[in-house]
Amino acid sequence: MRFEEHRTDILIVGTGGAGLFAALHAKKADPTLKITLAVKGLLGKCGCTRMVQGGYNVALAPGDSVERHFMDTIEGGKWLPRQDLAWRLVEGAIERVRELENELGCFFDRNRDGSLHFKAFAGQSFDRTVHKADLTGIEIINRLMEQVRALDVEELEEHRAIELIPAQDGSGIAGVLFIDVRAGTYRLVRARCVLLATGAGPTMYRYHTPSGDKTCDGLAMALRYGLALRDMEMVQFHPTGLLGGPDTRMTGTVLEEGLRGAGGHLLNGAGERFMLNVDPRGERATRDVVSRGIYAEMRAGRVGPMGGVYIAMGHLGPDMVRRKFPGMVKRCEDCGFDLAAGQVEIVPTAHYMMGGVEFEVDGSTASPGLYAAGEDCGGVHGANRLGGNGVANSTVYGGIAGDSMAAFARAHRSLREPDRRVIEAGIARAEVPFGQPAGPVHELRDELAQTMWDDVGVMRQRDAMERGLQSVARHHADLRTQGVADGDRAFNLSWHDWLNLDSLLDISEVITRSALARENSRGAHFREDFPEPGSLEDSTYTRVSRRGGELALELVPVEFTIVRPGQSLIGDAAGVPPQLAA
Ligand SMILES: Cc1cc2nc3c(=O)[nH]c(=O)nc-3n(C[C@H](O)[C@H](O)[C@H](O)COP(=O)(O)OP(=O)(O)OC[C@H]3O[C@@H](n4cnc5c(N)ncnc54)[C@H](O)[C@@H]3O)c2cc1C
Repeated sequence: MRFEEHRTDILIVGTGGAGLFAALHAKKADPTLKITLAVKGLLGKCGCTRMVQGGYNVALAPGDSVERHFMDTIEGGKWLPRQDLAWRLVEGAIERVRELENELGCFFDRNRDGSLHFKAFAGQSFDRTVHKADLTGIEIINRLMEQVRALDVEELEEHRAIELIPAQDGSGIAGVLFIDVRAGTYRLVRARCVLLATGAGPTMYRYHTPSGDKTCDGLAMALRYGLALRDMEMVQFHPTGLLGGPDTRMTGTVLEEGLRGAGGHLLNGAGERFMLNVDPRGERATRDVVSRGIYAEMRAGRVGPMGGVYIAMGHLGPDMVRRKFPGMVKRCEDCGFDLAAGQVEIVPTAHYMMGGVEFEVDGSTASPGLYAAGEDCGGVHGANRLGGNGVANSTVYGGIAGDSMAAFARAHRSLREPDRRVIEAGIARAEVPFGQPAGPVHELRDELAQTMWDDVGVMRQRDAMERGLQSVARHHADLRTQGVADGDRAFNLSWHDWLNLDSLLDISEVITRSALARENSRGAHFREDFPEPGSLEDSTYTRVSRRGGELALELVPVEFTIVRPGQSLIGDAAGVPPQLAA
């Protein structure tokens, strides 16, 4: 099959916070470099950075410190984060928020005295989440897009990456193979270095929050390419996903964390507030704890008509709720619910993958010239991502990767010769559905969503996960016998649904195998058959790689490079902030 060839210096795959920050930094570091942004959807209109509601964690409030932010990240991550990555995150967030405000022109909400307003987010020892009401991502991505569009940067919109192409001589990355979605043709983009910033996204679960363009393509490609993925069992469920009924995409979308932070109550189907029976922090406990509390009510049948529980805000004053959470109130109103004064039915919803590609503090991976940033990466958050640390992660590490790639591209001026066999294999893989009779791919996707929700979801146990593993394998075998009806490749969305499901199935297997391997309960991963966290001192993380076509799984000891379990970087005098002690 024919493919076109295209050349650039730096290729960035994905245009969320990570991809766009990388482009800005790389161009600023060296304006002579040719930078190409390639994205599955439209620039600035897809991915999850645009969807960020609650805000951005940064230790800028009086009395707060990077040490506190770091300790919250490590303790929230249940001692599994790679500590140098977590440290760079909290330190880098300060630089990045200043850059967002002073160089990009973001307006974050301020107090009457002009100082930044910091929101309370659950599971953190300090109010440190800067925001633009409850629609922070739109502010960030719009300003970023304006800045990137003002630069001389090439855009390849509606280009779906399907394979990372190594150099023929094995010396590193040579480029990326794409489908030009509009034309339905293949395009190889050769580059001196490549950033993988496709944002992962646990959209294989029945209820999920991320945008539909995110189907773990980057993780599936990285795995085939030979990179290791870590912490893949760590799928974060956001406790408050909207339940709008079975036939609306609004179901699963998130009602932001700040609602609980502001004092929202969760009520079961009988109208009882139940979270205080689960955790003394009540609704302000971490996402994993609250999600399990809700799931337990659901299993016990104490639910509303759609099978979920309720969030209630009315006791805080409907006017205040409307003023502070206009986006959330509007979202509920669009579905016929009154968040400000009434109750809205909610369910835990798969939100974020803490796991991903193993990477270094400078954004590099094990393959020379290949960088990764943002939600595609593992190691920063360990077993749990704090609300507000997601967009910090993508923008901090996106910028770092941009700086590193500019330096790499200056030092390596020639393009590597691509391995033609991998290109052919990538095309053959994408062509599979055209050789099969048309089948109901969407039904298979529904089955996968139900499998992952039931068997590898909020609460896990061996038998269910083993059943889930078999189901995933069966769904994958079924997919390979099903094709798409229309042979026209231009804008063939059925073809892309097929490819999306292929990636999701690959990564569902990795999640399930990693979850089976972790025989303890940490953060987002809860085993009913192993409910204890195990010794923190002997913590290990899961690492999966592909060896000879098979998945190989290792349990690797965590290195406590900055602080050990039982130690802290903050003294007792730091205390508990009054709003959380109450
Ligand atoms: C509803 C919602 C609310 C959130 N709220 C918060 C919050 O308040 N605070 C917080 O810190 N975090 C929040 N997050 C998480 C946060 O959005 C993400 O952690 C972060 O934005 C990810 O940035 P990213 O650049 O890695 O990925 P994204 O912004 O998701 O971008 C990924 C990009 O990759 C592209 N892509 C995907 N596959 C391919 C492919 N095969 N080929 C080419 N391009 C591809 C996508 O189209 C997209 O452009 C929220 C997430 C959601 C879903």
